[in-house]
Order: sequence, then C-alpha cells, then structure tokens
Amino acid sequence: MPSRHRGTSSADSLPAAELMSDLRTTIVHAAEGRAQGDPSQAPIELTAFHVSSGDPAEVPLSYGRYGTTTWTALERALGEIENARALTFASGMAAATALLLALTEQTQRVVAPRDGYYTVRLLLERLRSTGRGIDPVLVDLMDVDSVRTALAVGPALLWAESPTNPLLRVCDLGALSRIAAELGSAMIVDNTLLTPLLQRPLELGATASFVSLTKATSGHSDLLLGAVTTRDDDLYARLVTWRTLTGGIPGPVEAWLALRGMRTLALRLERQCANAQQIAEFLRAHGRVRRVHYPGLDEDPWARAQMPAGFGPMLSFELDGNAADADAAVERARIIRPATSFGGIDSTWERRARWTGESAPPSLIRLSVGVEHIEDLIADIDQALGS
Ligand SMILES: *Cc1c(COP(=O)(O)O)cnc(C)c1O
Repeated sequence: MPSRHRGTSSADSLPAAELMSDLRTTIVHAAEGRAQGDPSQAPIELTAFHVSSGDPAEVPLSYGRYGTTTWTALERALGEIENARALTFASGMAAATALLLALTEQTQRVVAPRDGYYTVRLLLERLRSTGRGIDPVLVDLMDVDSVRTALAVGPALLWAESPTNPLLRVCDLGALSRIAAELGSAMIVDNTLLTPLLQRPLELGATASFVSLTKATSGHSDLLLGAVTTRDDDLYARLVTWRTLTGGIPGPVEAWLALRGMRTLALRLERQCANAQQIAEFLRAHGRVRRVHYPGLDEDPWARAQMPAGFGPMLSFELDGNAADADAAVERARIIRPATSFGGIDSTWERRARWTGESAPPSLIRLSVGVEHIEDLIADIDQALGS
C-alpha cells in the first residue's frame, strides 16, 4: 500500500480511487472514513428518527424510513465497486419488487427468463393473475432471437439472469443489452450468483444490476438484504420513492454485517471458485455422476470473457440414480449441510426437485461451495456419493 494512504493530513481524506486499480483493493477500502476522528467502521445506527425541523428536503436525515447512516455506508461501498449509485433493501425480493414497480411505470410488459429465480417468476405471475397490469412473457435467454421477437412487440422490461440456477446456464448479456437498447427497453441483470466482482452487468450495458446480498456478497449466511446499482439518476430517484413508499428498507444491523462481510468478498470468491472448479472436475470423473453443470467446465470463449475472474461458487450435478438416491447422498454428508441458499463460506447442498415448481431433473443436487479445505470437501462428497 503506498504511504500516501496513511497519515491524517487533509490531502489524505481525498478519494483514492485513482490509486485503486483493482476491485480487490477497492472492496477492502470502499466508503471508509479517513478524516481525523473517523471510526474504523461506520457505526450501527439504531434509531427511528433523526432530530430535524424545517423543510425535510433540506436536512440530511429525518425519519428512519428515508435513510440512516448505516445503510448509507453500505450503499456508498456498493456504488464504489460498480462505479454507480446503489440502493439497499430489506431483502433481495424487496429490491426486485422496487425494480419491477419503478420499471413498469411506462410499460407493463416484462420479458423474463423461463428458468430465472423462482420467486421472481412467482411474483410476476402473481402480479399478472391478480390484475396488477403486469404482463410477463417468459423466454429462453439463450435464444437471442426469441428475446428480440418478444421485445420487438413494443418496449418492455428485460429481466436477465446469468448464470441461472440450478442448471448454471450462461446467456450473452452483452448481446441482450444491445437488443434491449436498440428496441427501447431497459435491462436488469440479477447478478446474485456471481456478485459485482465476477460479473459487471453495468459495463455490459444493463440499466441496473440487482443482487441478493443474502448470498455470496455478504457471504456469511447471517442476514437477508438486497441491493440495486444503476448509473441512471432518474431510475435511482424512482427506486428511492418506491422504497420509501413500500417500506422495504434494510435493518441497520444487517446493513452493518453486510458491509463487514463484503470486505472479504474477493478473498472468499478466490477460494470458492477454485474449490468449485476442482469439485466440478472431480464429479465429472465420478462413477456415480451422470452430468455436471458448471460454467468453468465450458469452453465457450464468450462465456469466459463475460466472467473473466471466475465462474462462481455454485455447481450442480445429476446423480446416476433416482430422487431417493440423491436424498440419501445429501443426508450422508458430514461437513456439507443440507440447505437451500448459496454463496456462504460454509458449503451446503440440496436436491433441487424437493421444491414444488422446480423443473430440475429428480436426481439433481445443487452444491454451493464454501471456503473449507478442498481435500476435506472432496472426501465428504466422495463418501456421501458412495461407489
Ligand atoms: C436469493 C435470490 C434472490 C432473492 O433474494 P432474497 O434475499 O432471498 O430475497 C433473487 N435472485 C437470486 C438469483 C437469488 O439467489
């Protein structure tokens, strides 16, 4: 670290962005205070209101639903990582809801992936079936021509997700964003699985990027939160309005934990991606495994270009057997715990088709790879699968 980062003269409190050429440095220092007397970390502010009088638009902080300093630190950090403005929410789904409300003010059509995050699909369907004026069109995002056809009908919101789960399918986000721009549609990318360190939706042309901070970004399986980042000031303002009106604000303790967890995101992902790659290769050669899904096994050059720093912490595989065999394997693990969710430092897995509405093959197991030692993980998987 250059010595200019130390010391307390006023020049040292200038942003050091130009010195931080790598996001792995930025994430350690994002939104930190460096003036005399600043705390090392933004404090947890437990308050329902801030003392204020006069025009609320002129005071920095007033009622708690409009903002607290704890979220502001998390939002500044997320914004610095994506070179954008960030807004945090009570959960990923609260963020998704605000995005849907803000981006369907002009158009009611939403073009979304058939294999996108299940709860987002349920929300779209519920908004449609209860007559809220949302018109979802489900497509296969790998089929760029079908996306073009769906968007050519008229402006829509394009909701994209890559890689999908549990099949880890990768779509060409750059191509999709060019089509969306050409046809006057906004595009959202659900970037939960890879996080802003492994995939850069805004640089690929997305209007906004969305993450459930619950997963790898916070990384310790101890909170639920969501975030949206965008470079569009008008969209940002509309999201603030929708968050304030619907009340899906982050809790200060969760916001503090998320920022603390995020500081080590680069380190965690390095280990998780390396572990996932080795496990994917191990499983591909395993006698009891029919098929492995992991983008790191794929040789597609554009997919590699879209995820230059790693392929993420999640993979899935189809056991050579039936649902009961897969359930038994999941139960036999001694280190990996059975659970849904993913991205944490602790490895978890589950048979996906245990969820109603999941279209994955019956023997498919989704594995979220943590930061444990690779030999222990492989030994646990090997004994759980049996021979
Ligand atoms: C978990 C998740 C969400 C929803 O986030 P919550 O924090 O659970 O509300 C959305 N998209 C993806 C891809 C997710 O994994």
